[in-house]
Formats: sequence, C-alpha cells, structure tokens
Amino acid sequence: MMKDKLARFMTGRYGVDALSKFMLYIAIGCMVIGMIFRNSIFDGFAIILLLIGYFRMFSKNIQSRYNENIKYWNIRNRFLNIFKMRKTHHIYKCPSCKQKIRIPKGKGKIEITCPKCRTQFIKRS
Ligand SMILES: [Zn+2]
Repeated sequence: MMKDKLARFMTGRYGVDALSKFMLYIAIGCMVIGMIFRNSIFDGFAIILLLIGYFRMFSKNIQSRYNENIKYWNIRNRFLNIFKMRKTHHIYKCPSCKQKIRIPKGKGKIEITCPKCRTQFIKRS
C-alpha cells in the first residue's frame, strides 16, 4: 500500500543516481565533522546538500539531472585517473620553465628533455 503510493509518486521523477549518493556521503561526512568540532556550519552544509539531493531525486526534469550526473562522473574519473597516474608515474617540473613532465616510474636514472624549452635534466624515476 505504502509501496504503491511511493511508486506512483516516483513515476516520471528522476530518482537516485551516483551524484545523489556522492552528495549523501559528503552530507554524512559533514554531519560527523560538525559533531566532532561542534560547528554548526558543517550541519548547515549537510542540510543544503541533502535538500539538493532530494530536489534532484524528485525532479521531473530528467534530462538536466542526467546531464549533471554525467558531469559529476567525468570529474570523478579525472580525479581517479590522477590517483592511478601517481602510482605509475612521477611528475617533474622543468627547472627552467616549470613545465610539468610526466615520467613512468622504475626506469632508474634518466635524462629528461623538457618538451617546451628543450632543457635537459637528470632525475631518478
Ligand atoms: Zn622547460
């Protein structure tokens, strides 16, 4: 009975997605931090996140919510790739032009040529 009502209510509405779940975790995190530090700013932030989460869940503008989720997913993957890259690569800065250069780990002492200014320097990878 209650289930039917809920199902009818959710018809044509967006529902839960990865972004909503992520916002929920952040909200819970904020509440915990708020409790530890006894700071109501975190509670306020948690409530705002939950309100946005509910708004998205019950939204009938499915296309917009879908696009938001895709954006979130792209940002998330970019961060994950940076973390993965840190395990397999070193990031060095060129000593003369500060250009960042990505070098695979475990190659021993190597001479690096900056792709931007052609400065050569030696690093252990
Ligand atoms: Zn350079």
